[in-house]
Amino acid sequence: MTDTQTTRLLIIGPPGAGKGTQAAAIAERYGVPAISTGDIFRANIKGGTELGKRVQEIIERGELVPDSLTNEIVQDRLTQPDAAPGFLLDGYPRTVDQVHALDGMLDGASLDAVVLIEADADAVVARLLKRAEIEGRADDTEEVIRHRQEVYAQQTAPLIELFSDRGILVAVDGLGSVEEVAARIAAGLEAKLAAPVER
Ligand code: ADP
Repeated sequence: MTDTQTTRLLIIGPPGAGKGTQAAAIAERYGVPAISTGDIFRANIKGGTELGKRVQEIIERGELVPDSLTNEIVQDRLTQPDAAPGFLLDGYPRTVDQVHALDGMLDGASLDAVVLIEADADAVVARLLKRAEIEGRADDTEEVIRHRQEVYAQQTAPLIELFSDRGILVAVDGLGSVEEVAARIAAGLEAKLAAPVER
C-alpha cells in the first residue's frame, strides 16, 4: 500500500457511544468505506454462514470473538477494491493484539487518526436499552451490556493510551445530539489531518 491520497481512520469508544452512526458520516466525508466488524459478524449470523455459526454464541454473551478469526476477516476486507483509498474501521482493533495485527496488514503504512468517542457508562446503558427495543439485538440486554462495558474497560481502553502516544488520537465528548457530536468529530479530524482531498 502506498501512502499517497489515502485516509486510514479508526473509531473507538465504549458500547453505545454512537460509533456506528458517526462512522457513516465520517466515512462519507473522507470517501472511504466504513467497515464495522460487529456489522460483518451480525450479517453472517443473520445469513446463517459458517462464520456466523462460529461467532453467534460469543457475541450473544458479550465476549470478544477470538483475535485470530477477527484479524482474518479484517485482512480480507481491507484487500477489497473499495478500501484502496483507505478505510474507517469501526469496532476494530479492540485488543492490543489486534492493533499489532493491523499494523502488520498495513505493511509500514500508518494510520492517520483515531476518533475516540467518550461516553459515561450509565448514559450508554440507557441508550442501548432503548436501541434494544428498536433493533432487537441479542446482546443488548442489561446484563450483556454491562459485560460488554467491562470487556471494553479491560481489553479496549488500554488502546487509547497507545494511540495517544502515537499522536493520532482525536478524543471527543459523545454526550449530545448526533449533530453536535458529528461537529466535534469533524473539527477534531480537520485539526489532525490535512483538509480532505477532493476525489
Ligand atoms: P458495540 O461496540 O456496541 O458493542 P459492535 O457492533 O462493535 O458493538 O460489536 C458487537 C460484538 O461483536 C462485540 O461485543 C463482540 O462480540 C463482536 N466484535 C466486534 N468487533 C470485534 C473485534 N474487533 N474483536 C472481537 N470481537 C468483536
